Amino acid sequence: MVDATVVRTSQEYIDLEDRYGAHNYHPLDVVIEEADGVWVTDVEGRRYLDCLSAYSAVNQGHCHPRIRQALIDQSYKVTLTSRAFRSDQLGLFYKQVHDLTGYERVLPMNSGAEAVETALKAARKWGYEVKGVPDGQAEIIVCGGNFHGRTTTTISFSSEPAYRRHFGPFTPGFTLIPYGDAQALEAAITPNTVAFLVEPVQGEAGVVVPPPGYLRSVRQICTEHRILMLADEIQTGLGRTGRLFACDHEDVRPDVMIIGKALSGGFYPVSAVLSDDDVLGLFRPGDHGSTFGGNPLAAAVARAALAVLVEEDMIANAAAMGEYFQDQLAEINSPHIKEVRGRGLLIGVELKHEAGGARRFAEALRDRGILCKETHQHVLRFAPPLVITREEIDWALERIRPVLLME
Ligand SMILES: *Cc1c(COP(=O)(O)O)cnc(C)c1O
Repeated sequence: MVDATVVRTSQEYIDLEDRYGAHNYHPLDVVIEEADGVWVTDVEGRRYLDCLSAYSAVNQGHCHPRIRQALIDQSYKVTLTSRAFRSDQLGLFYKQVHDLTGYERVLPMNSGAEAVETALKAARKWGYEVKGVPDGQAEIIVCGGNFHGRTTTTISFSSEPAYRRHFGPFTPGFTLIPYGDAQALEAAITPNTVAFLVEPVQGEAGVVVPPPGYLRSVRQICTEHRILMLADEIQTGLGRTGRLFACDHEDVRPDVMIIGKALSGGFYPVSAVLSDDDVLGLFRPGDHGSTFGGNPLAAAVARAALAVLVEEDMIANAAAMGEYFQDQLAEINSPHIKEVRGRGLLIGVELKHEAGGARRFAEALRDRGILCKETHQHVLRFAPPLVITREEIDWALERIRPVLLME
């Protein structure tokens, strides 16, 4: 038996994880025990500035007190009703999302991948019932380098061999085109195309920002050919890029918006699909569901998470701090850096291949008190919580500079 009251070292926790867990991750060896705002503390009491934000799930900062209070308060009332009954929280959550985003309807789920699956089902349904595509023939166009989750369908159209290897057979009905190429989208459309699924900035691919005007062209092509534009803003949405949605940078309104991650400020898995009545209005009782989707605890947490994001002006802070951070990173004159890019506080530093991979830089940063993660081998992603201050960015830069200048 493992005695949980015994004080352990980081190494002991690492050994427990490695001994008893599946090895489907390669984490940096830092064992976090507590967190507050942009800071996390490990079991030995060392403090680190979090520059990953749990892949942008803690945009509001770790353990935000208002979201925590909402979680605690709701946990004393009711946590789960299932959708067999109603709760006093769900409608209020829907209304708040509607008021914030303008979308007419909301379909709540839990993980991001589930929300993507839901959006794909909605798009197919729309294709058959509204556009008139023959049943079973719907095609959905997706982009190379995409990341939409780890379910069997979402990996079916991944271009990353490691995500797919030995997980087939795969879901048919998807066409891959290059990211950032609007002409490729137009060329790939057939009479059976029902939707185009796209990330406005590709996070997992290494913070890939498409050329200016791309999203606007995509919007236009989708409208002209009568296909739905589905935006996966699970990582880029809710303030990360300095606007509510990354699509807002080009004043583009997708037909279907997919959100997750920061929708709960990191307290709880909450995701949602948003659209107008023409798409989500097609669902009928029994078509789709989830036991935990839209539960009162999730709804209460998400309501607080959205309120905090807006009322504490985190989106404007992300815009200002993102610009500052990115400018300062771009000024580092390191022979290892190929490119610094990003939007708002979603920043990628791409290293030259001769630098030997981003992992060793992430490890060196950890040793100096900064947590970030390599993405796709050669990119360091900097995506701190949106509450970060200029002083904290300066503190980080003092440590990032020497690491990027090391041999
Ligand atoms: C994280 C992410 C997902 C998957 O979300 P999960 O909650 O891990 O299932 C999907 N799309 C994008 C763009 C993401 O960043």
